[in-house]
Amino acid sequence: MHQDIKEILFTAEQIQARVDQLGAEISRDYANREILLCGILKGAVTFFVDLARRIDGAVQFDFMSCSSYGDGVTSTGNIVIRKDLDTDVAGKDILIVEDIIDTGITLHHLVKHLQERGAHSVKLATLLSKPSRRQVDVHVDYNGFDIPDAFVVGYGLDYAGNYRNLPYIGILKEAVYTK
Ligand code: 5GP
Repeated sequence: MHQDIKEILFTAEQIQARVDQLGAEISRDYANREILLCGILKGAVTFFVDLARRIDGAVQFDFMSCSSYGDGVTSTGNIVIRKDLDTDVAGKDILIVEDIIDTGITLHHLVKHLQERGAHSVKLATLLSKPSRRQVDVHVDYNGFDIPDAFVVGYGLDYAGNYRNLPYIGILKEAVYTK
């Protein structure tokens, strides 16, 4: 285990088993419909590529980048789109793929944004959710795991750009971000 990690919440094996289940569920729900998988850079990339390979049927990829956190560990509440989708979403069935839902502010904003552009449907898949932290009501269609109110890294999730490559998801030691 990395020295900055306090506790491992989900091992690589546990994550893969859950991603398998989510992929099977999504494949059933979207049978005979093409999905525009919309990954939120950068944290969701690892989950995105694993999930995409577990979906049967027609899938297209696109990516967006937005920020609300900077290098800190609490949301600023101000969402800025840094990179928009390349695809015209009108009439498409969009599945947003996110790493984690905390306050819900980011996804609330993104869902509204895509609906306003005329998507046929907009659903959400997140690997992690912190239900106790929710400030805005967001409907989550596919959720990997509920987690407690702790700052986690690994499997794509970072702190100040680091730890994304850890194969597991772990709680970061407070000392790392309070020093
Ligand atoms: P929300 O708008 O729901 O509060 O925030 C969602 C975004 O906050 C996520 O995409 C992620 O970038 C960041 N975030 C929230 N909680 C955590 C966490 O525990 N660890 C990391 N690395 N990022 C988090």
